Amino acid sequence: MFVADEMLKKLARWLRLLGVETLYPDSIDDDEIIKFTKKHDKVLLTMDSELCRRARKQGLSVFLMPRKSTEEQLVLLIKRFKLDVSDAPSKVLCPLCNGMLKEAGKKDVKSKVPPEVLSKHEAFWMCKKCKKVFWEGSHWERIKRNLEKVKSMAEG
Ligand SMILES: [Zn+2]
Repeated sequence: MFVADEMLKKLARWLRLLGVETLYPDSIDDDEIIKFTKKHDKVLLTMDSELCRRARKQGLSVFLMPRKSTEEQLVLLIKRFKLDVSDAPSKVLCPLCNGMLKEAGKKDVKSKVPPEVLSKHEAFWMCKKCKKVFWEGSHWERIKRNLEKVKSMAEG
């Protein structure tokens, strides 16, 4: 769906947690990010008005992101692109790399998580791409609360 430019790394993570595919190419220049967005047929998200102007000139869909909090930026995108966020927080996309997550059992993640986490949790998810393991720990509760807030802001 989206390509996020360098300044929007945090936003990219949150979009993935909403279940919205977001690519984040690491440190490439304006020409490259325009090419990259075109190649993947995505909408470019940027806070850089010059990059926005150049990308539009080349026929790209661009969304010029105002300098607001990540929550407010998410609300803008949900409204503008009518994103379906009913399943958020999503366990489909890896927040770190946009790879696909799959459910994993205790034995799959044994060597990858601390023993106390392993004994406390039954359900795990592993990224097929970067192999990072996720579980519904205290961090997950914070994510849930944040996304609930974003969802109610988007409805209001
Ligand atoms: Zn990953």
